[in-house]
Amino acid sequence: MQKKTWIDKTNQTWKLNAAMAFMIVAFALLAMAYVAHSYPGNPWVAPLSSFIELFIVIAVLTAAVGMGIIFYAIQCPKCGKKPFRPLAEIVPYQEVFTKFFYSEKCPLCNDTGEPMQKDKSKRIFGRF
Ligand SMILES: [Zn+2]
Repeated sequence: MQKKTWIDKTNQTWKLNAAMAFMIVAFALLAMAYVAHSYPGNPWVAPLSSFIELFIVIAVLTAAVGMGIIFYAIQCPKCGKKPFRPLAEIVPYQEVFTKFFYSEKCPLCNDTGEPMQKDKSKRIFGRF
């Protein structure tokens, strides 16, 4: 069984998914701009050709939002810091994403993200 990552355990996977969604949209827009640029005579593509610059601008903004989520929205509940940027400064860039996404603990304070016993009892108690 695969171990849960720190991002999973701290319930921040949705932020990662949101960031990925923005990246995919950015990539799709760039692909559309590329196709519109490469096949200007194609009748399917012709309507897109006047929006190439717009696609690229929106793609860059969308990618920036996606990166912004990774940089500034994923936060350690224990130490309160946003670990991606400090990590990116000490780890080679090829490894920073895998290190960050698959880490089993906070890269800064080594918090494992496991819910504390106290939290668990509070949650059960809260149902009644
Ligand atoms: Zn931390």
